[in-house]
Amino acid sequence: MRLLDTLTDSLVELPPPPEPIGIYVCGPTVYQRAHIGNARPFVVFMWLARWLRARGHDVRLVHNITDVNDKIYEAAPGRSAARAREATAWYLEDTEGFGLGMPDAQPLATETIPEIISMIEELLASGHAYTVDGDVYFRVARFAGYGALSGHRPDQVEEQEPSPAKEDPRDFALWKATKEGEDTSWETPWGVGRPGWHIECSAMAAKELGPEFWIHGGGVDLVFPHHENERAQSLSVGHPFARIWMHNGLLRFTGEKMSKSLGNVATIREVLDEWGAETALVFFLTAHWRKPIDFSEQTMAAAAAQWRRLSEVTVADEHPPSPSWDEFVACLEDDFNTPEALSILHRWHAAGVADLLERGLDVFGLPTPTRVHKAHVSFGMRFEDAVPGEMSRKVPAHVVELLEQRLEARRRRDYATSDELRARIQAEGFEVEDTPDGSRLVIRERE
Ligand SMILES: [Zn+2]
Repeated sequence: MRLLDTLTDSLVELPPPPEPIGIYVCGPTVYQRAHIGNARPFVVFMWLARWLRARGHDVRLVHNITDVNDKIYEAAPGRSAARAREATAWYLEDTEGFGLGMPDAQPLATETIPEIISMIEELLASGHAYTVDGDVYFRVARFAGYGALSGHRPDQVEEQEPSPAKEDPRDFALWKATKEGEDTSWETPWGVGRPGWHIECSAMAAKELGPEFWIHGGGVDLVFPHHENERAQSLSVGHPFARIWMHNGLLRFTGEKMSKSLGNVATIREVLDEWGAETALVFFLTAHWRKPIDFSEQTMAAAAAQWRRLSEVTVADEHPPSPSWDEFVACLEDDFNTPEALSILHRWHAAGVADLLERGLDVFGLPTPTRVHKAHVSFGMRFEDAVPGEMSRKVPAHVVELLEQRLEARRRRDYATSDELRARIQAEGFEVEDTPDGSRLVIRERE
């Protein structure tokens, strides 16, 4: 399997199974209900983990939660820890709603403080960091590879976190001394404060996956400065860190006002309530994970229509030519191309290949489609001559008898008898649809 790596801008081959694959994905900062764009990395990397597991890899997916941050202090002055706990619970409940299961670990920054402090101590001891008035900064000039991930020339990196106390405008905070109004803090050898955002992820990734792992994921908006800084910190303490950097494209809100609580965006909860998990998953399948995806009433309605089609498959005994399972696998092995895989699902649907469609949908956590069996019996035609093989096993002889009596009644235009016979057939669990030249017996079954 090959995945596009941001650092080398090339496709990198994963090793064959059962090589363990560790995946670290940057999660949300928790201070309000997460919007649907936050769900994209969750869904993409849950799918990837499911797929790698199905290939036989031993996968460990880590999706962190940033629960100490400026945004949380601002959102809930004086009660930031309580707000972070509450918003973490919302996030877990909302993402669980996709029905994809949950990551193997969802570490909290606030539960990784000892590891964060010891990593900063290491960076201070090696001269990669320095303290100023209780703050600790990373010394960008000490890390030769700075800018490699984001494509910045090291001498042209813009200033981050402006502060006159820094040695170099490019330096970024590893630790921030407590300011007025900040109610969550920890003691350290250099003063009371809280961690910077970037060091949290370096520490959580090492704690959960060790110093080296296969895949680091997150939205493309995190490449700079967040991931550039994570990489600088981790490599500076001697960790080889991620072998592949995967950056998902962003979700763009292109429609009108969509949310009561967030204005022009919609929360995960609102999307799941309004459209359902299946439609939301089909929506995410429509775009390649590296590309942007447009969210609007129209794109969601289109996804809903796709799901309605896929969720019911007319079983056929003989299939017109359609893609093989190997072709479906090939799409996913080639940089996890879900739009291509989705088009194969539609071709299986059109060809009535229920078993492959079911297996393909399951890869993305979509439920088994309802199998629809149909037999079209024309006037004067025997039922046995009209039924596909799969269906003949499912229709008892006495129902066939009733159907044939009803056809005979319709031919005579004896509609009273015809209606009575329809009711008896329905009572046996079968549907009848009338057409100008006969009737169709329909069985819908969820297997
Ligand atoms: Zn991160």
